[in-house]
Amino acid sequence: MTTNAIELGQKIVNRNPATGEVVSEHSISTVAEIHSSVERARAAQPAWNALGVARRVQILRKFQELLLRDRDALARKITQEAGKPLVESLLSEVLVALDAARFCAENASRVLRAEDVPHGNPIMKTKRGRLVYEPVGVVGIISPWNYPFSIPATETFAALVTGNAVVLKPSELTPISALELARLLHEAGIPEEIFAVVLGEGPAGAALIESKIDKLFFTGSVATGKRVAEAAARRLLPVVLELGGKDAMLVLDDADVDVASSAAVWGAMMNAGQTCLSVERCYVHRSLYDQFVASCAKKIQQLKVGIGTDSGTDVGPLISERQLRIVETQVDDARALGANVVVGGHRLPELGSQFYAPTLITNVSRGMKLMHEETFGPLLPVIPFTNDAEAVKLVNDSEFGLAASVFTRDRKRGEGIAKQLNAGAVMINDLLSCFAMPEAPHGGTGASGIGRTHGLMGMREMVRPKYIDSDMLAIKKVWWYPYGEAFTRQMSAFVEMLFARSAARKMSGSLKAAASLWRKKL
Ligand code: NAD
Repeated sequence: MTTNAIELGQKIVNRNPATGEVVSEHSISTVAEIHSSVERARAAQPAWNALGVARRVQILRKFQELLLRDRDALARKITQEAGKPLVESLLSEVLVALDAARFCAENASRVLRAEDVPHGNPIMKTKRGRLVYEPVGVVGIISPWNYPFSIPATETFAALVTGNAVVLKPSELTPISALELARLLHEAGIPEEIFAVVLGEGPAGAALIESKIDKLFFTGSVATGKRVAEAAARRLLPVVLELGGKDAMLVLDDADVDVASSAAVWGAMMNAGQTCLSVERCYVHRSLYDQFVASCAKKIQQLKVGIGTDSGTDVGPLISERQLRIVETQVDDARALGANVVVGGHRLPELGSQFYAPTLITNVSRGMKLMHEETFGPLLPVIPFTNDAEAVKLVNDSEFGLAASVFTRDRKRGEGIAKQLNAGAVMINDLLSCFAMPEAPHGGTGASGIGRTHGLMGMREMVRPKYIDSDMLAIKKVWWYPYGEAFTRQMSAFVEMLFARSAARKMSGSLKAAASLWRKKL
């Protein structure tokens, strides 16, 4: 579909993935509406920037208060459209957003603070260099369904507090979370033009890329990310791409099996495995392997699969039939190639059409889809390794490089291995939770994307550096016209004065170069 395919009257129907019930219906934004949201944002942004960082921080803190006030109702709404257990909506959506707002409020002034740029070259000593940071203007955000509140929220806070306007296109599967974000931001005092939500499927995202946004933050799959990067390249639009992962967990021979198996089960099953940082490959030292697999099997069997709003639910449904089929296809492929499904490996139709049993799988090999394609489902493949060098090689045998984790009783050994892993983040003795630390930059290498969100690095993606150079002497400069033979000789001597090692040569260079100071300029 092209962006022109968006016609008036088209709708997205938002369904509860646990029950299939229609939660809401929304008109899809037309191309003209998307462009006009961006135009309005552009017109309003200078005043928002002029308001100053202190006032913007104040508004963000007000937003925090409102989010805290509405946290339980909001968590319920997120669970209704995304399926995850209520406690996950509270922790990985609301809490993550609250803490990200805190971080952005605390660091906005720092990110916008101008810096002196001193000069080393003596001839430039009359100049004062300053680096100032300005908002990029209008930031476009295209977000996925798996963290429908916290992903766009964290990017939005960083953009708004540094003086940008934002136009957000959330996933068509989870529009309510984005509309709730808008409701709270507007109530806190963010002008409607400064934060706007446009709705729709891929073509709406494509229309946003074609509009006059100044930078795009895209979070989604590798396939879409490549299309987005191509479209952005056509108009030289800068992009940050947060894409998929195939994150590995390493369990070294000195690890605590009970701790590591609990981590693996949570890391693979949380949000029904639909997390970019999910454990999708678990490599375990041979000496612990049998014990580890048995422990994971026991723990997975104890998980309660059900509707996210039921208290006690550990694992909810998958977001869509399409997502469920991806998991099913990978498990079938692995089975056909000789894998051993230890636990699960089937749908749970008695719960609903989009539930899949948390699955533990062994005897997997490199050629199986589940070892190199992103699964995004409740699937834990466990693979043995013999030594650390082999483990590092196995982890790095992937086109993705989002995150990884190492479990060991020897922290130093874990940190040594972390340095060898191809990943944007490595956690020792924990996993996934780096996403919840607003201080930690988030992003990957290779197919996992370009650029960073979160942390100071993520905030700096929202500003443009401008170098301002101010000369204290409003006089004609030595290196201006005219040139000529004598001037060329003098400049050769000047280069010698600057970079020759010996004091004698420096002195001789400076004497020869000095005449250039008095030559007549154009
Ligand atoms: P997706 O790529 O299908 O969609 C993401 C967004 O892009 C949606 O809003 C969608 O409507 C929009 N879109 C689709 N086609 C488009 C086009 N041609 N132009 C512009 N926008 C378009 O991804 P998804 O299924 O919503 O999310 C799951 C994926 O996101 C997984 O691969 C996951 O790993 C990844 N993800 C990555 C991170 C990260 O931080 N690295 C975080 C969460 C999710």
